[in-house]
Formats: sequence, structure tokens, C-alpha cells
Amino acid sequence: MVSIQGVNKHFGNLHALKDIDLTVDDGEVVVLIGPSGSGKSTLCRTINRLETVDAGSITVNGKPLPAEGRALANLRADVGMVFQHFNLFAHLTVLQNITLGPIKVRRTPKAKAEERARQLLQRVGLADKADAFPSQLSGGQQQRVAIARGLAMDPKLMMFDEPTSALDPEMINEVLDVMQDLAREGMTMVVVTHEMGFARRAANRVVFMADGQIVEVAPPDEFFDDPKTARAQDFLAKVM
Ligand code: ADP
Ligand code: MG
Repeated sequence: MVSIQGVNKHFGNLHALKDIDLTVDDGEVVVLIGPSGSGKSTLCRTINRLETVDAGSITVNGKPLPAEGRALANLRADVGMVFQHFNLFAHLTVLQNITLGPIKVRRTPKAKAEERARQLLQRVGLADKADAFPSQLSGGQQQRVAIARGLAMDPKLMMFDEPTSALDPEMINEVLDVMQDLAREGMTMVVVTHEMGFARRAANRVVFMADGQIVEVAPPDEFFDDPKTARAQDFLAKVM
């Protein structure tokens, strides 16, 4: 589904991504973990071309990332992204937030887009919030709307960049539960998270990054029970 080969990225003098090689298979859940500043967000952002790369290649579904125009809009629709800070449109209702992309990018007829949006709201447990505005929802509810909005585009891949980091503790699980259901249903997912319990339960592979490099890749039980590198051991000792 995603193939990343030899990717390098600099911000001025900072070498933010160093020779990154990573593939994500269809239906696979890859959890990216690592210290702050290690390049996790930058790597995610390169996959839907929110960041360009200096060297290397990235393909999604076998195709190189398009540079611009309608092809780029389609790529971004194919690669759903949920960020730490819920980026819902404040002036639109929940239903309008979810149907905007399908109507504008996928050219779905409005009635059909709304029907699908209501199904997705049901799925994330927010069937009664279609007409609410984002400001009337809790953080956990807003994040679940953001997930529904991504799903409304029928993405090939969903990326989550610390989707629960800005949430009050009691709201974290309602979002992780939705993500875990998605994983179980076979969605291909790349997830940056500090929720190690989620990583252990939902990941097929854990990718540990530090200093712009992929340091260790392993199935979750192996990674958490028997990390191979000193950097991963050190990181886990601090967070667990
Ligand atoms: P993580 O998500 O693992 O915390 P990031 O990918 O956000 O790490 O950042 C990796 C490094 O790149 C950090 O040192 C960060 O300060 C730097 N960085 C990220 N985005 C930019 C940017 N747009 N301009 C300059 N430096 C950036
Ligand atoms: Mg980040």
C-alpha cells in the first residue's frame, strides 16, 4: 500500500529524515513511536505530500506521489489524516464537515454523501450530533468526527498523528476504541502514538524512530518485551 525508499528530508541544517525505508502492506497497522523530534510527524506528512522530500521515493498503491492538481487532491483523499489538534471547520456542522470532501473532491451527490455521513457517525457513536457545531462537542467527540470525515472519502490508508495527545484522559479510550475497530475491520493504518497499550493491542508492527532514523522494527510483543537496541530500551524505560 505504501512504499518508502531511501527518503531523506532536511529543514535547513537539520537532517529530519535519514535514509528511511518502510513499507506498509494492505490491511496492516503500523505504529510509529519514538521521542519527540524524532521525525514521526514529518514522515507521516511526506506520505500525503504535506512535506516534499529531498531524496528517495514514495509510492502509495503503486503510484508515485503526484506533485499537484487534481491528482494530488485525490491522493490526499485516499490518505486520510487525523492530527493531534482536531482541524474541523468551526463554521460548519458535523454533517457538513463530513460531507464537504466527498461532495467537492469525490463529486458524490449531496444526498448520498449525507446518507454515508450518518452511517459513519453511527459507527463512531455520534449519530445524534449531525447538526451540532464542533464547539458544542468534547475533544473526544471532535476527534471521532475527524475520523468519520477521513473515512467518508473511502481512503485506502488512514494516518493518525498523536490523535489522543491533546485529549483529557477520560476521552482517550473512546477515540482509541474507534481506531481499534477500524484496525480490526482491516483498514490500513499508520499511527503515531504514545499509547503503548494501543500499540501492543492494535499494531502488526511497531516502528521505533530516533533522530530521524528508523532504529528498530518489530511485532509489538517482541518490541515491548525484548527491545533490541539501547535506544529503544532507554525510551521504553522512560515511558512505561
Ligand atoms: P516528531 O513528530 O517525532 O516529534 P517531527 O517530525 O515533528 O518530530 O520533527 C522532526 C524534527 O524536524 C524536529 O527537530 C523538528 O523541530 C523539525 N521540524 C519539523 N517540521 C519543521 C519545519 N517545518 N521547519 C523546520 N523544522 C521542522
Ligand atoms: Mg509529531
